[in-house]
Amino acid sequence: MTTMTTSTLPSVDTLRERARDALTAIGWRGDLGAPGGPGLQASTPITGDVLFSVAESTTDQADAAIAEAAQAFSVWRSTPAPVRGALVARLGELLVAHKAELATLVTLEAGKITSEALGEVQEMIDVCQFAVGLSRQLYGRTIASERPGHRLMENWHPLGVVGVITAFNFPVAVWAWNTAVALVCGDTVVWKPSELTPLTALACQALIERAAADVGAPREVSRLIQGGREIGERLVDDPRVALLSATGSVRMGQQVGPRVAQRFGKVLLELGGNNAAIVTPSADLDLAVRAIVFSAAGTAGQRCTTLRRLIVHSSIADEVVSRIVDAYRQLPIGDPGTDGTLVGPLIHAAAYRDMVRALEQAGAEGGEVFGGERQDVGDESAYYVAPAVVRMPAQTDVVHAETFAPILYVMTYDDLDEAIAMNNAVPQGLSSSIFTLDMREAERFLAADGSDCGIANVNIGTSGAEIGGAFGGEKQTGGGRESGSDSWKAYMRRATNTVNYSTELPLAQGVHFG
Ligand code: NAD
Repeated sequence: MTTMTTSTLPSVDTLRERARDALTAIGWRGDLGAPGGPGLQASTPITGDVLFSVAESTTDQADAAIAEAAQAFSVWRSTPAPVRGALVARLGELLVAHKAELATLVTLEAGKITSEALGEVQEMIDVCQFAVGLSRQLYGRTIASERPGHRLMENWHPLGVVGVITAFNFPVAVWAWNTAVALVCGDTVVWKPSELTPLTALACQALIERAAADVGAPREVSRLIQGGREIGERLVDDPRVALLSATGSVRMGQQVGPRVAQRFGKVLLELGGNNAAIVTPSADLDLAVRAIVFSAAGTAGQRCTTLRRLIVHSSIADEVVSRIVDAYRQLPIGDPGTDGTLVGPLIHAAAYRDMVRALEQAGAEGGEVFGGERQDVGDESAYYVAPAVVRMPAQTDVVHAETFAPILYVMTYDDLDEAIAMNNAVPQGLSSSIFTLDMREAERFLAADGSDCGIANVNIGTSGAEIGGAFGGEKQTGGGRESGSDSWKAYMRRATNTVNYSTELPLAQGVHFG
């Protein structure tokens, strides 16, 4: 497949300067080490170079951060929720003021094209606004008591320290989803970002500390620890961490979930997806193809909600595949910071190797591959690929796994029940779509025996959720819900209170005692 590539990339010195300028404008004051220095190597997938070394937290520092957040919690939980909302409102204002700089860092570290990086920061702003409103709406219920002279009600209280572990592909938004909501709920936060995105994390920490100083909130309400798995494990195992909200691969969730459960901590897991779209004969194909291309090739296939499986009615499969392949040929691939680019780099060499392996396996399982070639952009350490479309004879083994790269497997169906069964036949349960103009098909897909995913859409793609809805998925995706709707309840504990304002002591269920 011939593709459009932009072969020139900015020099590593230019990228370093962009990162430094963005951090300075955001207000981060600290030292960045030279590449190869001690600590984390902050690299950019744009060229594959290390930009700086960044201090890594020791286990003692991680423990101290948890202790500080636990101490701050004793003050923060008693601060009125609307006052807590003022901190999040200020964070939102700072994000508006520094949207461009933070997006620059997202592009540098995660390789997102500028428009998607700006969109990620906008998502942070949106969730701040949502959380500020929420700070006046942490409602409990009043329940009719069966006993005269009694009032029965529910109160929601802060939980404690929330540990937040995040993945590389949404380096700032997932922190904001958790932190904005946790802070208005009266919790304090300790964040361990991906070891692949330490610079964006420094920027977010500078912004939340500025916001806290501006509104007079304790600086320790939100702490940052940097490092890999071992540092994350401090949050997993520490009983002072009341809720662990962890976003990443199913493998990570399988490791952390049981460990938190062992100590009876609460856990909120946002793990991998293997998202499908069904295209029916009645679909508006112009709309469907645009949505499919954005969902499958956008972010170079590195979203948890990326469209990975297309289940097309056999009568239109040839046409749909040919339209997608044509659209893929016109996708500009290259420097994500250049206007017009639509597909940036893969995050690292291992991601590229996973993609090559999956395409080889797909071929061996009977797949016909279009695209997927490495592009001649930059030097050996940058990994730019053409998105791939693979026509599969069935949902074979390779299709059941999430390969975090732009591979779209296409299967056919003849009967809608069969298509829904295929949608549900993978271990993950994050996002799903149907493209149809037949309301019976749409409603069937959304019904209890339809899609088994946490997100089920009609006539839009699988990716690009709004913050107002609860976000998350079932099965191996982990069952957690973040962001909008009533997801805030995961960040609080419920107390059921019964108040007797009578002079009698009636027992429930008519029990008499003495
Ligand atoms: P990853 O699992 O390699 O790492 C995610 C985070 O977990 C990192 O911060 C890492 O240091 C930490 N970690 C890994 N093992 C750990 C352990 N045993 N204890 C404590 N911390 C540990 O994932 P990644 O490659 O950064 O991100 C891609 C994956 O994340 C994909 O599977 C994608 O679908 C998933 N993801 C899911 C969502 C969602 O909301 N469902 C959102 C974004 C990404």
